[in-house]
Amino acid sequence: MMATKRDYYEVLGVQKNATLDEIKKAYRESALRYHPDRVPHEQKKEAEEKFKEISEAYAVLSDSNKRALYDQYGHAGIDQKYAYEDIFKGADFSSVFQDLGDFGVGGGLFEEIFGDLGFDIFGERQGRRSSGSRRRGRDLQISVDITLEEAASGTEKTITIPRYETCSVCSGSGAKPGTKRITCPQCKGSGRTVVSSGFFQLAQTCSRCGGEGSAIQSPCPQCHGEGKTKVTGKIKVKIPAGVDAGSNLRVRGEGEAGTASRGDLYVVIEVKPHPLFQRHNNDIVTEIDISLAKAILGGEIEVPTLNGKVSMKIPQGTQSGKIFRLREKGIPDLHGRGIGDELVRVNVQIPTRLSAEQRKLIEEFARLSGEENNKESFTDKIKRSFR
Ligand SMILES: [Zn+2]
Ligand SMILES: [Zn+2]
Repeated sequence: MMATKRDYYEVLGVQKNATLDEIKKAYRESALRYHPDRVPHEQKKEAEEKFKEISEAYAVLSDSNKRALYDQYGHAGIDQKYAYEDIFKGADFSSVFQDLGDFGVGGGLFEEIFGDLGFDIFGERQGRRSSGSRRRGRDLQISVDITLEEAASGTEKTITIPRYETCSVCSGSGAKPGTKRITCPQCKGSGRTVVSSGFFQLAQTCSRCGGEGSAIQSPCPQCHGEGKTKVTGKIKVKIPAGVDAGSNLRVRGEGEAGTASRGDLYVVIEVKPHPLFQRHNNDIVTEIDISLAKAILGGEIEVPTLNGKVSMKIPQGTQSGKIFRLREKGIPDLHGRGIGDELVRVNVQIPTRLSAEQRKLIEEFARLSGEENNKESFTDKIKRSFR
């Protein structure tokens, strides 16, 4: 871990002689960029790592003592003196984000991200675990199959999803109602245990009590002390018109229950292949066969659209492969920027079998077009060109 750590100044992109204000500014900018709430779901993990890295760099460089230690001895100096979570103690995060309200420290994001590591960096500030570690529930992800028609019109789906809910018998405490909690025997009530590894000392949240300092005497009979039970949730999800395969819809508060708030549910859209249409952005493309006579003479044909058949004019002399555009018969834009078109590609069907009479008429047609039957062969043509 030590060997791979990047230089804190480099992490924040500041000079070695940067002022506190410059450090704050650099941290604020990076933090907003890598804030896990602001990046697409699939990049969340990466962003969290980045967020932790810049937060650590900021915690050290914004504290004059830690900074001096780091300037003199580098990472080794910090790591020897401070357990990982202690690096963050006393760091002033709130003034960096004070104008952002929920988005910053107040929203519990710091607790959430660092809490995942088993660290409680704001333990002191929050009045110490008396209420247990307040956590947001886990986010859940599920994929939903819809048809192209549903993607075009929008739809509502009822999703069944197994998720944890707060136990109704013990209200999430995990203790059998009427029983008392006892001091945690593993950490003796301190909520943390110290792990030594070489010359490092790492304080970690106690694994037995999760940092609460107390343990359950008799577990709740319903949830066996877990404080939560797995139930199958039925959730109605509105799917807006214009979604495409891979669209990721966030349904706030429909993830798992946590002690502080519920996580979110991410619904990933899958669109089933359509037998007639292919989608290109908001346009749909289809192919249709027309007869030779219709291609030559022109006329009307029936064309399928996402909302039933419509009639379409074919001009005379239509070539095979010609693409016609039916305006606004495609898919509405997800963000309300218009409606796509339907592109109809016509394939002219050349008959492979002719009746005697049809053959006669085509030969007549060829004659009238100045084609002397088909007597002139390819070699004749070559000879002629050399004459
Ligand atoms: Zn229970
Ligand atoms: Zn404990």
